[in-house]
Amino acid sequence: MKDSAIPKFFEKSRKERLKIVKDFSSLTEEEIKLLENQNGGISFEKADKMVENAIGTFSLPLGIATNFQINGKDYVIPMVIEEPSVIAAASKGAKVARILGGFQVKADESYSIGQIQMLDVDNSLAIKDIQKSSEKILEIANSKSKTLSKIGKGAKEVSCKEIDTPKGKMLIIELLIDVGDAMGANVTNTMCEAISPFLEEITGGRSLLRILSNYSTRRIAKARAVFEKDAVGGEDVVDNIILAFEFADNDIFRAVTHNKGIMNGIISVANATGQDSRAIEAAANAFAVHNGRYGSLTQWSKDKNGNLIGNIELPLSVGIVGGIINVHPMAKICTKILGITSAQELACIMASVGLAQNFSAIRALTTEGIQKGHMKLHAKNIAFAAGAKPEQIEKIVQKMIQENNISLNRAKELLEQI
Ligand code: NAD
Repeated sequence: MKDSAIPKFFEKSRKERLKIVKDFSSLTEEEIKLLENQNGGISFEKADKMVENAIGTFSLPLGIATNFQINGKDYVIPMVIEEPSVIAAASKGAKVARILGGFQVKADESYSIGQIQMLDVDNSLAIKDIQKSSEKILEIANSKSKTLSKIGKGAKEVSCKEIDTPKGKMLIIELLIDVGDAMGANVTNTMCEAISPFLEEITGGRSLLRILSNYSTRRIAKARAVFEKDAVGGEDVVDNIILAFEFADNDIFRAVTHNKGIMNGIISVANATGQDSRAIEAAANAFAVHNGRYGSLTQWSKDKNGNLIGNIELPLSVGIVGGIINVHPMAKICTKILGITSAQELACIMASVGLAQNFSAIRALTTEGIQKGHMKLHAKNIAFAAGAKPEQIEKIVQKMIQENNISLNRAKELLEQI
């Protein structure tokens, strides 16, 4: 069985790390070459096809989080992020979680929601007409994706709701679509546009917006882990973590920062695997308020033995096909590193990373504070920005930390003294 608890991964050279990942995920020599490539894997020609007015590409660090055990399976997790400490925090959280069995996770099937805004109708009559024709509506929608139909997925349900607006009551028709292993934005939009002429015909109304909802409440992932109390730092630390959670869950100023930390982990994996990170962020932020007030995306408590229990629940609209996943060579390799076979499996991983991240962040906040770990990498960046060569960096970093003066000016002064 594969083991992602790789001792001292952070101390290894790039070559050694690549070899470990290659063996873990059966990467080819060609894939390793791509990972070693300095340009981040995407040519200008490709970039020019992905966005408008392209003038270049912009790469970010890609690192590996270790120690993850999710539903009994070990993973090494690629994370793309510019912020120091995030990958270390995820690995640390996963290391503690695996003592008592790692993460137990469940993800919904991938149902997306499309919306059609229908105007100039008698809403109650229109709702009846739509209900009567729901089979035909689904048939038109499903004619737009042979792939989904072939695998038993596609549009499954039509429903109606009335919303109150200052311009009066408005009819919104919603299409529920099983988008399989894709994020499904395009197929959802296509289906919404395809059914709207028929909806206009049967209701006599005028459809205005026909678009996916990013509030993907039918794609919820739930992860749970038990963190052994001594590995957490003892019962006092467990209690303090629960108090820190209560602060976040009851004060929006704290909660936004607390959830931002969770998204540090989740978005890093989203970036690495070519997901639409904005869609994930937008849905998570809306979900944080689903109980009527903005709160924590995680819940923390303790069991009868004093161990810390962490839970996370959030919508995750992700895919392993479509979008840039099959276009960006790095996204392809990162998906292979994960060894995943479904969008749900990816959602399970991302939820676990979010929970691990949150554990490490609040553990650090309730003990030594967040800056200790953070500042070392920050100091490295500062030393680098001051012009230090790789062999000079550690000396300058140590000195700045010792003096508690981490600044560009001090780094430049120290560099001159070397
Ligand atoms: P896509 O358009 O590439 O569609 C996925 C493709 O994969 C389809 O052609 C489908 O037939 C095929 N496929 C093959 N095997 C499949 C399987 N097992 N399950 C499902 N599909 C399978 O990608 P998409 O997921 O529809 O759209 C994602 C992209 O849309 C992202 O780049 C996103 O940024 C963008 N987008 C987002 C929004 C939004 O979030 N509001 C709106 C528009 C576009």
